[in-house]
Amino acid sequence: WKHAPAHFRALLEMSRFHGEQIFLAYEDEHITFEEHFRRAATLAGRLIGEYGVRKGDRVAVAMRNYPEWVVSFSAALAAGAIAVPLNAWWTEAELAYGVRDSGAKVLIADGERAARLASTGVPLIVTRGEVPAGARAYDEVMGEVTADVKLPDVELSPEDPATIFYTSGTTGHPKGALGSHRNLGQSPMTVSYGFMRALAMAGKDLAAAAGGRRITLLTVPLFHVTGCFSALTTTMFTGGGLVLMYKWDPEQALRLIEREKVTAMIGVPTNAWQLMSHPDFGKYDLSSLATLGYGGAPAPPKLLERITANLPNRAPSNGYGMTETTALAIGNGGADYQARPDSIGLPTAVVDLRVVDPAGTELPPGEVGELCVRGPNVIMGYWNRPEATAQTFVDGWLHTGDLAKIDDEGFVYIVDRAKDMVIRGGENVYCAEVEAALFEHPAVDDAAVIGVPDDELGEEVGAVIRLAPGRSVTTAELREFLADRIAKFKIPAHVWFRDGELPRNPGGKILKTHLRREILGS
Ligand code: ATP
Ligand code: MG
Repeated sequence: WKHAPAHFRALLEMSRFHGEQIFLAYEDEHITFEEHFRRAATLAGRLIGEYGVRKGDRVAVAMRNYPEWVVSFSAALAAGAIAVPLNAWWTEAELAYGVRDSGAKVLIADGERAARLASTGVPLIVTRGEVPAGARAYDEVMGEVTADVKLPDVELSPEDPATIFYTSGTTGHPKGALGSHRNLGQSPMTVSYGFMRALAMAGKDLAAAAGGRRITLLTVPLFHVTGCFSALTTTMFTGGGLVLMYKWDPEQALRLIEREKVTAMIGVPTNAWQLMSHPDFGKYDLSSLATLGYGGAPAPPKLLERITANLPNRAPSNGYGMTETTALAIGNGGADYQARPDSIGLPTAVVDLRVVDPAGTELPPGEVGELCVRGPNVIMGYWNRPEATAQTFVDGWLHTGDLAKIDDEGFVYIVDRAKDMVIRGGENVYCAEVEAALFEHPAVDDAAVIGVPDDELGEEVGAVIRLAPGRSVTTAELREFLADRIAKFKIPAHVWFRDGELPRNPGGKILKTHLRREILGS
């Protein structure tokens, strides 16, 4: 190999040896590895030749999960640029922030996003939809794609920056997470290992499922790390197939699993939950499905119970990761997961973990503190944010902002986000624990626990509940139900029922700042 393997160009070059195998499926479009390679290499050449893109320049991508997203991402990295996947759900002002913050030199967008990006004045390439004045059509920029196209010659090392992903913005303004080629290069290994381990522990033979290939249905956006690393780079590296969706839709997912013989579904816990809740769930042939991988948000133990009942003999796995850990860092699957459904499992083979007190001192097993992660998947730092970088990355350890405990055997339990925890009269109440207890009630379809200002206690526990269709429960009944499950001081003093969905970001995370503002006006 000319390049180090921890290097996107090596990954891309290697992927073409899967040749005529289908790499990407989107509705009726099926694109082979060879075709994807040609398109990416062609676009990389155009970015360099026509847009003057040089090593380290930023190329932003803003679109839905179209195959062109993957081509653009691949092309940017192959050209030596830093790929900046922008959140396709962002408003015009938010997109402008992403473009400004990253200092993008070129934007590649779909028609929907293009309209919102035109005002930035940055050169714009547009696919699928109207091309605003001054922008160029993607097909025109691509021109002829020839069979003998080669990657442009760019010197890159694994330490060179490769990506800027924006964090989900659950706790504040999204931050640009700067990841290196090495961070990216380790992701297929970590993710594949996690899945293979879960499958092996469940006694599942993946080879029987789809001719030995892993066909992944991605139910979340590519612009978050779960989509890009747990699904995309891993598929590319292992010669699997990736099935893309325009947007999450449980019925469409059921149809695609059957049609494309999907072996792994990857997304957030809500996706798995909604798949099984769909009235037509039983009508589809889901026999190819061997694993369901989810993460990015707490997965209530009840989810595993439902999967075990509705999709028996599968190997579900719960992965914990952050934008700052290039997706997966800790994972639970197979027999481990069945035995400890409330744990996020064991660290992946590449990471070290520890739990520290506010002074940064390591705590013994079983004690709750801030979870810290170290390893080749931990990003270089935040883009343009030296202060946040210095606070979060200390002596090689990433401070996650999540409260956790690790048991004697190394299993990790997330107890809450440090910012979400309710402190009631000096007593810590972990929202995630109360939410998990609420989920046990059959009438509860969705739940979020928040701190409510209280004169006497500082904060009281409040719960916002969305009822399951056709179900009802009173506050008193719910409190009585919880009394058997959690300590009295954790039982919500305030309960609000609401009809609509709880506010979530596209990553499936409940936006508690929005909820608090909506309900408490603060
Ligand atoms: P921001 O950092 O901008 O506030 P965010 O932290 O939600 O947003 P992400 O990087 O997308 O942005 O999410 C990482 C967080 O998601 C973790 O810190 C953790 O709180 C949560 N998380 C991820 N996976 C899991 C999981 N399996 N179980 C519980 N929580 C998880
Ligand atoms: Mg975060």
